[in-house]
Amino acid sequence: MWIAWAQLASLLFSLTAASFGILAITLLGIARGRRGLALYTVLALGVATLLAAPLLFDDNLRPRVETALGAGLPLVAGAFLAVLARGARGTRAFLFAAFSVLVLSGAAELAARRGVFVARPVVPPLGVGFVLFTALLLPRVAEQERRLFTRATTDPLTGLLNRAAFEERARAELVRAGRTGRGLAIAMLDLDHFKSFNDRYGHPAGDAALTAVARAIARTVRGIDAAGRYGGEEFIVLFVEADVDAALPALERVRAAVAGLGPPRIARTITVSAGVAVHQGLFEKTSFASLVARADAALYAAKKAGRNRVAVEETPPPKAPGDVRYR
Ligand code: GH3
Ligand code: MG
Ligand code: MG
Repeated sequence: MWIAWAQLASLLFSLTAASFGILAITLLGIARGRRGLALYTVLALGVATLLAAPLLFDDNLRPRVETALGAGLPLVAGAFLAVLARGARGTRAFLFAAFSVLVLSGAAELAARRGVFVARPVVPPLGVGFVLFTALLLPRVAEQERRLFTRATTDPLTGLLNRAAFEERARAELVRAGRTGRGLAIAMLDLDHFKSFNDRYGHPAGDAALTAVARAIARTVRGIDAAGRYGGEEFIVLFVEADVDAALPALERVRAAVAGLGPPRIARTITVSAGVAVHQGLFEKTSFASLVARADAALYAAKKAGRNRVAVEETPPPKAPGDVRYR
């Protein structure tokens, strides 16, 4: 009689755990808009549980089935989470869940051998509970990570890349340009007479103008290019796979977009001057700092020539060894 009650209790434990797991997966799947995936996972879990349930009445098989269910359910749930979360975070969570479940199953097995009867049926609910806990924790951790990353790489006023993030991207592109031989252009932009704009309209209006300019730059350059705030009212743009003939018109479009802004409630237009330096790919070894210095010199020339214009560096480096070109 005692054995029968124990079998029944064990069966109930396992089935309850399976139901909780199934319910959790269904809810999570629906919440994340992955109904199809949730349905297949639930079907697989349901079939596995139904197949396993009768085996629980066999005294010889019961301990193994319980351990298998205890380890298997959370593992399937963990795999489901990994697919949901996609990428490294999901995989990490899955590995963590898998490891914990294995430790849990091992501990249950040991306890069972020492005669603690209830240990094994407890594994499935604990495992599923753990996976659920991970599932609840995971989005918070991911959100926190995303927020920190954004804060570390973005300029808070304009939303463009900050100087450090821009430099990191530019350095990577420089290495790539050196390998592929495709050109790369860096442009420095500086708003014209912005001090007097601030003096006349106040700093909040100046800030709004900076944000509007940043948005104009961001929507004018291509998706593969990068735009950053270099400091104050200075912006920096990276045109990848671009020679002078491609970078100049692109930069001219940026200048025109800024000039056409017309800030709300303000009569004065904002204009920008820009200087561009081009890295010639294979034929040139150059550092980010020297490319920026060259673009800066061109910017100075644009200012001197009357502002609201674009200038290319005076003497671009040779396109091929021995081929020195002047502009
Ligand atoms: P130029 O055409 O020669 O560049 O003249 P400019 O007045 O723009 O040049 P200057 O470097 O003398 O002035 C830059 C001004 O940009 C000074 C500062 O008031 C303004 N500025 C820099 N950063 C910010 C900011 O974050 N917000 C606002 N509102 N103004 C800023
Ligand atoms: Mg300036
Ligand atoms: Mg300025």
